[in-house]
Amino acid sequence: MSGPLLKVENLTKHYPLGRGFLKKSGPVVRALENVSFSVAAGETLCIVGESGCGKSTLARLLMRIVKPTSGRVVIDGTDVTDLEPNALRPWRRRMQMVFQDPYSSLNPRLTAGQIITEPVENFERLSPKQRQALASDLLQKVGMRPEMMRRFPSELSGGQRQRLAIARALALQPSLIVADEAVSALDVSVQAQILNLLLDLQQDMGIAFVFISHDLSVVEHIGHRVAVMYLGRIVELALCEALFAKPTHPYTEALIAAAPLPDPTRVRSGSPVEGEVPSPINPPCGCAFHPRCPYAVERCRMEIPPLVPMADGRLVACHVRTRALDI
Ligand code: SF4
Repeated sequence: MSGPLLKVENLTKHYPLGRGFLKKSGPVVRALENVSFSVAAGETLCIVGESGCGKSTLARLLMRIVKPTSGRVVIDGTDVTDLEPNALRPWRRRMQMVFQDPYSSLNPRLTAGQIITEPVENFERLSPKQRQALASDLLQKVGMRPEMMRRFPSELSGGQRQRLAIARALALQPSLIVADEAVSALDVSVQAQILNLLLDLQQDMGIAFVFISHDLSVVEHIGHRVAVMYLGRIVELALCEALFAKPTHPYTEALIAAAPLPDPTRVRSGSPVEGEVPSPINPPCGCAFHPRCPYAVERCRMEIPPLVPMADGRLVACHVRTRALDI
């Protein structure tokens, strides 16, 4: 395969708030604005930001649960943005999703075995023997005993439910998994087990992940590259190591300063971000971060900063931090 596995171009999603004829002229929630990135096979791109930054809207757009207002989603060179449900089916196999709350994403009336095989049976008929072999194989892949296939979700722990949700996502042998806050609801020790499981699966099966999280310590552990989002836009996109070693956008700097460190002897530099995320219905003009940014200058209130490539290859949207490039 040449080219990226997933390419997202200028993806935008606006939700009109009015009804009827007011829908066109009424207020609009600007959930996502001109988001572009690509993901290579076997890569993990993490998407981070505070709640309300557009991360989950992005996940739903990638999975085609909702349609974008504009922009494109391209998988393996094919534009799937406007495909009708039937034409989309083969592409749905390639992309699976793991949600934050494993309990509400699993049908409580189905056994673990039925939950795992159900997505496959939407595409092909399986004999009882094939069903059992598939469920047993996938449960073992995610570190669960095959006999657990007879249990219902209510009879499993939180960590086992999330392992089951991952097994279900693996059943269709996807090339890409979109994981939306997939470990946020779990205890820290279980989080580590699930993250290590995802890393192992990636190594064994070459799966790419779009890993959405508000938790930077999780991102630091799992990401190859990181896109930082603020109020519906990407403000910095960099290799994971480079981003944590030298955050460049003031918002990234503040997020990293606020993230707890696993090693108490290490200290983060910079100050955490203050204030609340503004409303996406009426975002601040110019750079949307300017009301909270300690480095804001007059230009920040007037112009939206474009994403600019820096010397080390990262992309940054900040008038001040990219100013040296203007000269
Ligand atoms: Fe801060 Fe201005 Fe940069 Fe926005 S463009 S992050 S307000 S310095």
